[in-house]
Amino acid sequence: MSPFENYLARLTHAAGTLKLSKEELEHLKTPDRILERHIEVKRDDGSVVALPAYRVQFNNTRGPYKGGIRFHPAADLDEVKALAALMAIKCAVVDIPMGGAKGGVAFNPKDYSKAEIERVSQAFVRAFAEYLGADKDIPAPDVYTNAEIMGWMLEEFQTITGRTEPGMITGKPIELGGSLGRDTATAWGAIYVLEALRKAIGTPRRELRVAIQGFGNAGAHAAEILHALGYPIVALSDSKGGIYRASGLNPEEVNRVKHEKDAITEMYCQGTVCDLEKLEKEGARIITNAELLTSDCDVLIPAALDNQLTAKNAADVKAKIVLEIANGPTSPEGDRVLAEKKVIVIPDVLANAGGVTVSYFEWLQNKSGEHWSEEEVMKKLQPIMVNAFEAVWHKAQEHHVTARDAAFLLGVERIVEAMRAKNS
Ligand code: GLU
Repeated sequence: MSPFENYLARLTHAAGTLKLSKEELEHLKTPDRILERHIEVKRDDGSVVALPAYRVQFNNTRGPYKGGIRFHPAADLDEVKALAALMAIKCAVVDIPMGGAKGGVAFNPKDYSKAEIERVSQAFVRAFAEYLGADKDIPAPDVYTNAEIMGWMLEEFQTITGRTEPGMITGKPIELGGSLGRDTATAWGAIYVLEALRKAIGTPRRELRVAIQGFGNAGAHAAEILHALGYPIVALSDSKGGIYRASGLNPEEVNRVKHEKDAITEMYCQGTVCDLEKLEKEGARIITNAELLTSDCDVLIPAALDNQLTAKNAADVKAKIVLEIANGPTSPEGDRVLAEKKVIVIPDVLANAGGVTVSYFEWLQNKSGEHWSEEEVMKKLQPIMVNAFEAVWHKAQEHHVTARDAAFLLGVERIVEAMRAKNS
């Protein structure tokens, strides 16, 4: 089943529970607008490539379209459509007045120079500028895009329109109107949710050993914050591999190694040659990304790629809680297996919604000309995440469903309420 077919199947199921009309269901099945172009980009050697680029505006009933742009070789229309729909649901779950959109360019940024990536970013904006804007559609970072790229996009947009409009994009550099706290927002959002869950199930932090897959922005920040809060961090990984240490790792030290040597396994190894004595002395093990997912831990945080927990490995997951910081890390089959095992899965649309929530704060600051401190941002983020968790938890109990199904129901219900209010 493709990502969008999966969305449609879940929606059709939710339609029964929520008693949606035929028209409401049709509206939620269909993106408002699909933009699809080939953008021409000059390579450094003078040749020109035409890259498939997409922007899907799914639904704006609750507010302007909102959602990131990914630069990834596997980006395609089906995936972007599904992610755009899930953005609408995510914004509704945290109850911010934003709709859902997503964008993508199908290419591998790792094979492109910085100047080439800048030209891809500008070409994307040139292709879709008339559909973007602070009150229309507001992009943000996603897989392999970052603040610098948002800055290039903003500048290109302002050159085209002749308007100063920092609110047309979020996740941009602070000096261009970005918000303090945006870089740690996804990690903090997930942790506020985990803390609320921990209180609901009554487990002390020291009994929740954490394994995190992915040491990018969200994964690395989550590791450091959780460690500081007293959660034992037993496993960490990046795309090159991982480390496991039953007595706990210090993420700050791991971060230092990652910055200096570009791979966290370099804590114990130089390339493929590992210091066995040091590993033994410290009780550590080098593990693969696949091993991390089934390692001995209580909280598993996939914070890297999609489709990591599948029919193949879900049965071997030892964690009691899965906190989805990545978008779509669990396949539908993996999800069924985890549900049967009574693993609590906090779904992406709740667990990683701190990112888009602080994007919304950034947009508000751009509109009002205010500058909030990082403390102010976090103080506003926390109750939003806790309320969203409680609403989802309550719905799961009420309907006897998983947290993923409950979050989906809650999001769809809130979008439909807004549709009905508009039509009455
Ligand atoms: N790409 C992030 C997400 O999937 C952030 C989107 C945003 O800030 O608009 O939630």
